[in-house]
Amino acid sequence: MYSRTQNENGSFNSRCLDCFLTIASYIETERELDEREAHHLCPEKVLAQLLAQEKAAAAQAARN
Ligand SMILES: [Zn+2]
Repeated sequence: MYSRTQNENGSFNSRCLDCFLTIASYIETERELDEREAHHLCPEKVLAQLLAQEKAAAAQAARN
């Protein structure tokens, strides 16, 4: 989920709606925006994944 805005000179910015970081600014083309968004390693998502892994590990430990 990304929020795109356009600058006065026609270039674009993109902000991640999960971590609210600006991941791209003054980008000329939407194609490049797509690439920047695709390469964003979202700390919020990484954290959520870590928590999920820990939960799964704890559940497994409780079973053994
Ligand atoms: Zn993010």
